[in-house]
Amino acid sequence: MTTRFDFSGRTAVVTGGARGIGRAIADHLNAAGAEVHVWDIEDADRRDIRMHQCDVTSPASVAAALGDTLSEAGKIDILINNAGSGRGSRSVLDSDPGDWRNLIEINLLSVFDVTRQVLPYMMAASYGRVVNMASLAGMEGTPNLSAYSAAKAGVIALTKSLGKELALTDIRVNCIAPGPIDTELLQQLSPEDLERMLAKSPMKRPGSVDELARIVLFLAAEDNTLNTGAVFDASGGRAVY
Ligand code: NAP
Repeated sequence: MTTRFDFSGRTAVVTGGARGIGRAIADHLNAAGAEVHVWDIEDADRRDIRMHQCDVTSPASVAAALGDTLSEAGKIDILINNAGSGRGSRSVLDSDPGDWRNLIEINLLSVFDVTRQVLPYMMAASYGRVVNMASLAGMEGTPNLSAYSAAKAGVIALTKSLGKELALTDIRVNCIAPGPIDTELLQQLSPEDLERMLAKSPMKRPGSVDELARIVLFLAAEDNTLNTGAVFDASGGRAVY
């Protein structure tokens, strides 16, 4: 039996929702009745979903997308901070400091900035659900992905801090720490790397974008009243903490 959620009357923003995991989240929220606004650096032609070209690392670009979304929808009930990038695999010694800083910017500082700009409207409405996309890398520390791992660990800590700050309101803030999810990124791995990665999974398979979207829907729902400042595992049994 599939759990069904009713997001009628709710407005959701999904960052990085033009493709991959974010696209599945946007589609599931839309199918469940939400008015979905995607903020993505890439423009995409999507029926039923409002696209706003937005670079989440630029506060001015976020402010513009926020202004457009509020003028169309009047409110934001749900914020899914999904945009991120794990591109570029380098040891700490071989890392270029500029590239390292850029990865912190796209994966961590953008989550802070988008949330900081959206939150006042949730506070004014006395309601909100925020879901941040972290990663198992932020729990384990993946070799040759130090900036990405550090940024995702930062997203986890930011989620815990903000969840506690808002615990007495009806705004819930949670994050998800997925293991490998079947997206384009995974399809670009060599068969050996893919096999090595899947060998670590007790389920011996990656998660699907639809499985992940269903966890997001639970965390974004009005019925999620008790969970806040929490990290939700999505690793198919790999995480042991
Ligand atoms: P993806 O396929 O690369 O999609 C990310 C989307 O975000 C793309 O549409 C991308 O646009 C957009 N984006 C990138 N930089 C942006 C910016 N500065 N402003 C606005 N949008 C931007 O990634 P994904 O695999 O779906 O991952 C989504 C999230 O899940 C990320 O936070 C990732 O770290 C996390 N995650 C993924 C996995 C996995 O196995 N895939 C595992 C754990 C966690 P462009 O295509 O133009 O760059």
